[in-house]
Amino acid sequence: MTPPATTRFAPSPTGFLHLGHVVSGLYSRIMAGEAGKFLIRIEDIDTTRCTPELTQALREDLDWLGLASDELVRQQSKHLAEYHAVLENLRERGLLYPCFCTRREISGAATGEAPDGSLVYPGTCRRGSPVDRQGRDPVWRLDMQRALDVLQEVPGWHEVGHGRIVGKADAFGDIVLARRDTGVSYHLCVTHDDALEGVTTVTRGRDLYEATSVQRVLQELMGWPEPAYAHHALILDGDGHKLSKRDGAEGVRVLRQKGWTARQVLEHPLVRQALDASLPTEAYSGG
Ligand code: GLU
Repeated sequence: MTPPATTRFAPSPTGFLHLGHVVSGLYSRIMAGEAGKFLIRIEDIDTTRCTPELTQALREDLDWLGLASDELVRQQSKHLAEYHAVLENLRERGLLYPCFCTRREISGAATGEAPDGSLVYPGTCRRGSPVDRQGRDPVWRLDMQRALDVLQEVPGWHEVGHGRIVGKADAFGDIVLARRDTGVSYHLCVTHDDALEGVTTVTRGRDLYEATSVQRVLQELMGWPEPAYAHHALILDGDGHKLSKRDGAEGVRVLRQKGWTARQVLEHPLVRQALDASLPTEAYSGG
């Protein structure tokens, strides 16, 4: 018998809760199953975009929907020292280096596009930075080749319902693990917290599928357990693009003000459609 799963829903409060979040939250809750644990985590390290007001609003909307975490909600901005300790560990092992390049310098010299659409860093600062660049605040990059040499493989992952997926970390180049503005990064904090919270199945939208390659490298470097991954379908517009607010993706607040009940929002046709396309039939009756 498989042990009960621990899943998590990890929204970033960069705006109000919308139907895409509802899909992610419900998917995670359902994938935990009756015996499993469902956790909510607020990923608010980007303080330029995530405000206390938006965090508060997000939590209120989740409460209204009845989506409750089985344990205390973790809020990343309150745990920065833990993420810095991971950076220090990697730095001491010679796996990080400071990079002083500007965005413009990188886009001028980038060596291609990574699987997630980001630019591949050309490696300018990898073996030391030209003196004229120093004096700016650096970002800290992972030396990907060195990391893969340590691991002696490009780690893959188990995707629920699909089996083993071949990782593509080598195609990402030297990704940023500590941003200039926040001192930390999404990949760093999310992998730390998934390990810390004992998440066994990482559930999230299909838009983060490619990010898994990078996150598996960090897990292996840090000796953290390997979770399974389950990426759900996104709510799409008529042209097959991800629905954005501009296209009329309605916020939960707006629907609530219009008189919708929580149950109606949870059963919104767009939510149902995305869940039906994503859930293994045994996990969800669709009823
Ligand atoms: N905080 C991320 C977001 O809102 C999700 C992170 C994840 O699920 O891995 O897009």
